[in-house]
Amino acid sequence: MRIGVDIDGVISDSYPVWVSELNGYYRKNITVLEKYEMHLAYDVPPEDMNTFFENNMEQLLGTPQPVVGAKEGIEGILRLGHEVVYLTARRPEDEAVTRRWLRRHRIPHETVLFSNLGGKEKLVRQWSMELFIEDYQLNARKIAASGVPVLLLDTTYNQGALPREIVRCKDWPAILQAIGEITCKQEKATR
Ligand SMILES: [Mg+2]
Repeated sequence: MRIGVDIDGVISDSYPVWVSELNGYYRKNITVLEKYEMHLAYDVPPEDMNTFFENNMEQLLGTPQPVVGAKEGIEGILRLGHEVVYLTARRPEDEAVTRRWLRRHRIPHETVLFSNLGGKEKLVRQWSMELFIEDYQLNARKIAASGVPVLLLDTTYNQGALPREIVRCKDWPAILQAIGEITCKQEKATR
């Protein structure tokens, strides 16, 4: 199965770094991100926050640590015989820093797609992904609505009830377990 995997908040533990940098810049002290849309949390215009990101992209994308268990999770998915395609909303011009980061943390990667701040569901369909791993509930809902099931990595900013096609996973071991169960079912179905 070809599995689509988001990067920020799923592979890269970006938000702690971003919140800390934004706290410094906007002189705030946010500790728990309850909204994915950070300009709402900081109560600033989205364009203002975009400028901050554009001016500090290397630092903001380069310094986060991997999400705990993500590397082992990706390795586990590959071991089960699946293909991993990364799909991020980052801009195409961020490809070099993104690939450098994946290499530095020894996270297996080949194809990395950039939706350039746009929705992901189109690329999910174009690339015939059969499952998607995401942290943003709105993306998860759009991808699920297009017929592709989603595993949603549990975070402070994606709480709330979910449709049946989206399964909340508390951490990477839970994601790997869910994929193992899907793999088992598929093998039984083809036997
Ligand atoms: Mg994300």
